[in-house]
Amino acid sequence: MECLLCNKRISFQLSLKDIFSFREIIMPVLCAKCKESFVRWDDHGCAGCGRNNTGKNSSLCADCQTWKKLYGWYLHHRGLYRYNEAMKEYMQRYKFNGDYRLREVFQRELSKVVNEQKADLIVPIPVTSTTMQTRGFNQVVGLLREVPYQSILGTRASSKVAQSSKTKEERLTTKQPFILKSPEEVINKRILLVDDVYTTGRTLYHAAVLFKQAGCKEIGSVSLAR
Ligand SMILES: [Zn+2]
Ligand SMILES: [Zn+2]
Repeated sequence: MECLLCNKRISFQLSLKDIFSFREIIMPVLCAKCKESFVRWDDHGCAGCGRNNTGKNSSLCADCQTWKKLYGWYLHHRGLYRYNEAMKEYMQRYKFNGDYRLREVFQRELSKVVNEQKADLIVPIPVTSTTMQTRGFNQVVGLLREVPYQSILGTRASSKVAQSSKTKEERLTTKQPFILKSPEEVINKRILLVDDVYTTGRTLYHAAVLFKQAGCKEIGSVSLAR
C-alpha cells in the first residue's frame, strides 16, 4: 500500500483483534507523517463557526456577529480540519489540479460526520458548469460516500469566478450565486449544507438564505476544512 499523498509505502499489519472483531477493516490511505500534518479542530469555540480565537466558549466571533446582524440569525457550522499548509496543499492537488483519487483521503471521515448530523436533507454546495467542465467533478460530492445527498441547489449562469480567487472584501459582497431548484421540498425540513472549505462563510450563507426563505425548519453546515 502506498500513501496517497507522498507515495511512500505504508506498513499495515492486521492485529488479531482486527481479525476477530468482525468489523470492516479500513486500510489506511495516508502514511503516519502525512496524516499528522492535518489537524482536527476540537468542538469548542464560537457558537456559529466553531473558531476558537475568541477566548470565550460559545460566544460569537466577529465574522458570525456580522452575519447575525445582516440576517438576524447565524449558521451552526462545523469544520473538521484546520485550513493549514497541509490542507491548502491538499486542496490544491485535489481541487485545482483535479486529482480525483485524493477524495479518498477524507471521504470516510467527512461522510461519517455528515451522516451523524440530524438532517432530513443533505445538500452539497454545487460547482458552476464551467468548473464542472474543467475539473470534471464536484469536489464536495467527491468527498461523500454512502451519503444520501440531494442536489437541489444549482448555480446561476453568471457566477463564474471561484471564491478562492477573490479577496476577503470581494467575497463578502458577492451576489447570490445559487438557485434552489425545488423550494417545495425543503419546507419544514432540517437541512445540512456540505462544503469543502469554510472561509468567511459567504458561500454557505448565500445558500442558507435560500433555504430559510423557502421555509426550512433548521439549517446547519459542515465543511472538511475551516
Ligand atoms: Zn505520506
Ligand atoms: Zn464564528
